[in-house]
Amino acid sequence: MAEFDATSGRRVLVTGGAGYIGSHTCLELLQAGHHVTVLDNLCNSSLESLKRVESLAGRSLTFMQGDIRDFELLRRVLVGPNNECPAFDAVVHFAGLKAVGESVSQPLAYFDNNLSGTVCLLRAMTEAGVKTLVFSSSATVYGDPASVPISEDFPRSATNPYGRSKLVIEDMLADLYRSDPAWRIARLRYFNPVGAHVSGLIGEDPSGAPNNLMPYVSQVAIGRREYLQVFGGDYPTPDGTGVRDYIHVADLASGHLAAIRALWQADSQTGCLLTVNLGTGVGVSVLDLVKAFERASGRPVPYRIVARRAGDVAACYANPVLAQTLLGWRTQRNLADMCADAWRWQSRNPHGYRQAAATGGA
Ligand code: NAD
Ligand code: UDP
Repeated sequence: MAEFDATSGRRVLVTGGAGYIGSHTCLELLQAGHHVTVLDNLCNSSLESLKRVESLAGRSLTFMQGDIRDFELLRRVLVGPNNECPAFDAVVHFAGLKAVGESVSQPLAYFDNNLSGTVCLLRAMTEAGVKTLVFSSSATVYGDPASVPISEDFPRSATNPYGRSKLVIEDMLADLYRSDPAWRIARLRYFNPVGAHVSGLIGEDPSGAPNNLMPYVSQVAIGRREYLQVFGGDYPTPDGTGVRDYIHVADLASGHLAAIRALWQADSQTGCLLTVNLGTGVGVSVLDLVKAFERASGRPVPYRIVARRAGDVAACYANPVLAQTLLGWRTQRNLADMCADAWRWQSRNPHGYRQAAATGGA
C-alpha cells in the first residue's frame, strides 16, 4: 500500500544536484511539485546550472554548498533546522567523481570521494531516519559483458577504480538493506547519458577536453576541436567501431522520478532493494552517432580512426525490460533527439556555463 502521495510535495535531498544528470533531475523533481534541496561542493559544476533549473521550472530550490564527506553538515541537513527528524522523504545521490582515466591515476581520491562520501551519507541518513535512497550506479559494473543486451543479473566486475567504487557501493547498499529492511533503495545502472534539456539552457559542461564521445563530437562540430579520434575501427561490431546505449539525459531524469515513486510505494516495513538498468536497449556505433550528429547540426564532423582506447569494450547495451516492468518507465527520445538537443546546448553555450557566469547572463 502506498505510504505517501508521491505525486507532489515531497522533500528530496539531491547530492551532486548541480552536475549534469543532477541538474536535469532537479528540474524533473521541481516540475513534479517536489521540494528540492541540493548539496554540492561544486568541484565539477557551477551554480549557474541551478539558476537555470529554477528559471525553467518557475520555482526555487534550496542550495547548500558542502561536501558529502562532512558528516556533521549532513546530519544537520537531514535532521532539519527544527529537529523535525526526518527532514526529507528521499535522497537522490549523484555526488561523486566520474572520470575513469583519472580514477586510474588517483585511486585514493575516488575511494575517498565516492566510497567514504557514500558511507558518510548513509550514516547521516541512518541517524536522521531517512531511509529512502536512489543511487547513481553505472553500466560499468558489467565490465566486459559476455553478450549483449545486458540484463541486471549478468555477472559484475570492475576494470578500474571508478568502476570498483560503484561496485562496492552497490554491495554496501545490499548489505545495508539486509541489515535493516526499513531501507528502500534503488540502484540505477545508467548506460551512456547524453544530450541536454530541449531548451538548450542546461546541459553537459565538461572541463578541459571531453573524455566522452558526444561532448567531443559537439566540440568538433562547433569548431573548438579539429577532428574526432575514433578509438578503434576493428571491433567485432557492424562497422568496426564501439557500440553503446546512448540515453537522453531527460529520459534518465524521468527514470529517477519513476524510481522514487516506486520506492515511496514500497512497504516501509519490508522496504525494497531495486536494481535497474536505465538504457534504451538500442546499440549505436561511434560512426552512427557521428552521422546522426552531422544531420542534426548541419555541420561536418571530421574524424580519424585511431588505436583502440585501453579498457574499452566492443559493445555494451541494455536489456531495458525490467525498468519497464518495475518502474513503468521507458525512454521517449531517440538518437536524433539526443543529437539535436546536444547541439542546441553546444551552439547556444559554446563555453558551457563559464561564459554565462562571467558575463552574468545566458
Ligand atoms: P557531474 O560531475 O556532472 O555531477 C556530479 C556532481 O557531484 C558535481 O556537481 C560535483 O560538483 C558534485 N560532487 C562531487 N563530489 C562531491 C562531494 N564530495 N560532495 C558534494 N558534491 C560533490 O557528473 P554526472 O555526469 O552528473 O554524474 C552523476 C552521477 O552519475 C555520478 O555519481 C556518476 O558516477 C554517475 N554516472 C554518470 C555517468 C555519465 O556518463 N555521466 C554514467 C554512469 C553513472
Ligand atoms: N569514443 C571515441 N572517441 C572519443 C571518445 C569516445 O571513439 O573521443 C568511443 C569509445 O571508444 C566508445 C564510445 O565512443 O566506443 C563511447 O565512449 P564514452 O567515453 O562516451 O563512453 P564509455 O566509454 O563510458 O561507454
